[in-house]
Amino acid sequence: MGKVHFLLQTEVEDNHRVHHIIFFPEFSSVEGFIEALKGRHSPLSSDGRPKMHMGGAEIAQAALDNGAMIGPSHAFTPWTGMYAHHDSLASCYGDQAGKVHFAELGLSADSDYADRIPEMRRLAFLTNSDAHSPYPTRIAREFNRIEMKAPSFAELRKAILHEGGRKFVLNVGLPPQEGKYNESACIKCLTHYALDQAKALRWRCRCGGVIKKGVRDRVEELSDSREPKHPAHRPPYLHLIPLGEIITKALGVANPNSKEVDEAWSAIVGKFGSEVAALVDAPINEIQPKEVAEAIAMFREGRVRLIPGGGGQYGQVVLGDEKIEPPKAPAPKGQRGLFDFR
Ligand SMILES: [Zn+2]
Ligand SMILES: [Zn+2]
Repeated sequence: MGKVHFLLQTEVEDNHRVHHIIFFPEFSSVEGFIEALKGRHSPLSSDGRPKMHMGGAEIAQAALDNGAMIGPSHAFTPWTGMYAHHDSLASCYGDQAGKVHFAELGLSADSDYADRIPEMRRLAFLTNSDAHSPYPTRIAREFNRIEMKAPSFAELRKAILHEGGRKFVLNVGLPPQEGKYNESACIKCLTHYALDQAKALRWRCRCGGVIKKGVRDRVEELSDSREPKHPAHRPPYLHLIPLGEIITKALGVANPNSKEVDEAWSAIVGKFGSEVAALVDAPINEIQPKEVAEAIAMFREGRVRLIPGGGGQYGQVVLGDEKIEPPKAPAPKGQRGLFDFR
């Protein structure tokens, strides 16, 4: 395995609750940025994602003035994504919008979704998972493969700007249907609604609950075409289902964090070097146990169905001809569901 390099990066929340990612070239740039904020934020020493008492344009100005790069994180998420609060980059970043060169797509969108929106097409797409928990089925769910001369900020900047042959060559992420807000659905009873149905009901479910607009429908509202229009610089997008989820399904166990799943996961990853190698490249007949090998074969052959998530409930992976149960009400607080990763 190669050396691990780190990039100076943070995520901040603006006064509309929109989240932004900022990449810094060096520590002095971080210090300059903090100085420019003039204390209008929650404590930086204790908040992993500090709240700024400022708008997107002002935060962008402070970042750009200090040589950093900024863009929306999980741009489509209905609570804290840019498109939850704004219809455009200009609405979010004001006169700094033209200097925003990337967007992070989040778990609920991929490049087919985002490239239906005209203003997104010039941007580099980042697929960076949140890592809210340490389980192997949760951490590092998404990643980017980038062609660059050296692992540095300057090279990353060139890749984001598609300069000098540097570029993103692969985005890897979850299928958007697995996201908790893929389709529009009631956050109380989880009934799914088509966009026109939800509009006719004024986003109020028959049960009285609020219908939360799904990412798929939000993209529909902002798009200018039925099909994505990928620009020449857009790399392929590989959809990966977590190996731990596949093992859980294949072994028929209820808990993805159980010892049984953990042991099978460790043995497979130990043998092939990484989840991606096991899921994409490993010879099927060398994968043990047999049930897991069969499930990985189904994944590669596309014999996996996805039941879209919505209303706060994750989507479901269905292997082959497996029968599934209709959606259940959300688990009580504190209990983690099968697809409770972000
Ligand atoms: Zn965030
Ligand atoms: Zn309802």
